[in-house]
Amino acid sequence: MPKTAFFTRKQIRDQIMEVGTWVAAAILGVGVGLSITVVLMPAGMGLIVLGAFVGTVGWVASLLVPGFFRYQTMQCPYCHEINQVRLTAVEYGCDGCGRKLRGAGFWRRGKESRQPRGPKTRLAQKVKQGA
Ligand SMILES: [Zn+2]
Repeated sequence: MPKTAFFTRKQIRDQIMEVGTWVAAAILGVGVGLSITVVLMPAGMGLIVLGAFVGTVGWVASLLVPGFFRYQTMQCPYCHEINQVRLTAVEYGCDGCGRKLRGAGFWRRGKESRQPRGPKTRLAQKVKQGA
């Protein structure tokens, strides 16, 4: 599975969590390093607080951000893992076995070009006027 994949709900959550954890760990590491020296201790303490804050923000973001996308539930034909796949994803790696599978967007893309939105909306307006 590619390292940067944002195609399933789990992947989006994991990626944000991973980046957040690394950034927080880096800031905390520098903060602890500075705190050891007496002169830079205030700056080190500030960085430790900042690192804890970044870690918390990353954790909250990993819970909230996946909610901004729309998903389709798809079952992997190989390992039967249930994947929450983004509607726009054409191809995605299975959360369970990592195999490459066709996403919801693969056929949706073709469907939408055949069914433009215009007439549909106009029909809806007509129905509204008639009622
Ligand atoms: Zn699978």
